[in-house]
Amino acid sequence: SNPLVLIVGRPNVGKSTLFNRLTKSSTAIVDDVSGVTRDRIYGEVEWNGKYFRVIDTGGYVPDSDDLFETAIREQIEIGLNECDAILFVVDGRIGLTPIDKEIGYILRRSSKPSYLLVNKSDTPEFEINKSDFYKLGFNNIYDVSALNGRNLGNLLDDVINSL
Ligand code: GDP
Ligand code: MG
Repeated sequence: SNPLVLIVGRPNVGKSTLFNRLTKSSTAIVDDVSGVTRDRIYGEVEWNGKYFRVIDTGGYVPDSDDLFETAIREQIEIGLNECDAILFVVDGRIGLTPIDKEIGYILRRSSKPSYLLVNKSDTPEFEINKSDFYKLGFNNIYDVSALNGRNLGNLLDDVINSL
């Protein structure tokens, strides 16, 4: 079957927005129960005639930082074994957070190709706070906007080439 790409990151960084844009889906949210938003988490992506599957790992954990930490750690550990590449999403406007560092630490121990997406970089002016993210130790860093699609083409070119 097609290669599997995992989208990981803490709540509200834009994982679902990215997922929707990559899969061109506007119907991601299928259920919404008292604070627990259950998004559609699985989709197919086509880019330049190549295909991969994408999973939004945050789609079925509570959108609260407390509950999130344990849940996301488990999901990442499980997903890491299955996937072929990882899209690690952070919020370029908020900056680096402790959970980002923790996720980064887990991903760096993995040998799977990882891409750090500094999201919400809708225009170049939002790249100001980027330097902090280099501390995470990723070689592949992309300023992107899941909202308007900025730089996602460059990212997809590189992801496809590594699969
Ligand atoms: P998730 O919790 O990681 O799945 O994050 P969501 O995709 O639900 O997005 C959280 C919020 O950030 C929403 O209000 C989105 O509209 C907003 N958002 C997501 N991506 C971007 C982006 O690239 N730019 C801007 N300005 N906002 C974004
Ligand atoms: Mg989400």
